[in-house]
Amino acid sequence: MIKNRKSLEEYKAGILEGNRAILAQAITLVESNLSTDSELASSLVQEILPYSGKSIRIGITGVPGVGKSTFIEAFGKMLLEKGKKVAVLAVDPSSQKTKGSILGDKTRMEKLAADRRAFIRPSPSGSTLGGVSAKTREAMLLCEAAGYDVILVETVGVGQSETAVKGMVDFFLLLMLAGAGDELQGIKKGIMEMADGILINKADGENIQAAKKAKTQYRNALHLFPPSENGWYPSVISGSSLTGEGLDQCWEIIEKFEKQMQGSGFFEKNRAEQRLKWLDEYVQYLLGKAFHEQTMVQNLLDSEKEHVKAGTLSPLTFARKLVNVFFENFQQKKP
Ligand code: GDP
Repeated sequence: MIKNRKSLEEYKAGILEGNRAILAQAITLVESNLSTDSELASSLVQEILPYSGKSIRIGITGVPGVGKSTFIEAFGKMLLEKGKKVAVLAVDPSSQKTKGSILGDKTRMEKLAADRRAFIRPSPSGSTLGGVSAKTREAMLLCEAAGYDVILVETVGVGQSETAVKGMVDFFLLLMLAGAGDELQGIKKGIMEMADGILINKADGENIQAAKKAKTQYRNALHLFPPSENGWYPSVISGSSLTGEGLDQCWEIIEKFEKQMQGSGFFEKNRAEQRLKWLDEYVQYLLGKAFHEQTMVQNLLDSEKEHVKAGTLSPLTFARKLVNVFFENFQQKKP
């Protein structure tokens, strides 16, 4: 059980009052991997559900060094000036593998973090990506119930995590650099196709011309993609977090997107589809967790895994055997 655990009512009341300390503690609760905590955590998420959903959820991705945290700090401060309350969450794919973090959260966005109207939460660690993104999703709902009206979800554009983030946000922003080829930046075409907006970043000083050129190139390249189902053509702009150029324009695009999607019904349609996908993922996650936690499964895996590795036991045959063992030994237990 996590330290200083509160009652459901205390968490709920604290969150609805916008108490940042209690919000942080509630996120720790939803991040906990202990089954003793997860029951309370899911009750809490269910309780605050009617108060959530009112924000605009923005995913931000790009390779390390492209300027994500600098952008979020500048963009976040601009939003605060517009009277918005801003929460920043992160999905960091590195944290499960290496226990280190590409996002390196702790020292980032200090100025934004210091503002009372902002809330910054480093990425949860441990577990699988599915688990990490599930926790970020729940944290997002808690932040919304606490009154944050813009949620920025940051991730690194190097792997699966963008797909996870795309699946939890309304608008997906890709940060890129001028002058570096797509391959160099490790940006796959699939990520560009996911973007609702592309910001050619660091368009300042000697970079300005290159950024303008890149903007035209990306605009042309994006026209080759088929239009999205929602009828939105991704916007390409250039900007700089140092000069502030493009920040306003970026927000205007997001507002235009939101208005257009609300008008056409695609905003809610997208969220409804996302919720169904989350349901599916949660079921898979909980089943996977129960499976791997079962002692009989663990023992069998330990004793015969080597044969799969050696190529003498078919992975499919062994998987069937494991699943059979799991069901044979399954005991009614709350997930
Ligand atoms: P992240 O890894 O994507 O979060 O990138 P950071 O925000 O940490 O930025 C990486 C480096 O780029 C830092 O040295 C920043 O000072 C620099 N940087 C970020 N944004 C800009 C920008 O708009 N213009 C310029 N010239 N440098 C920037």
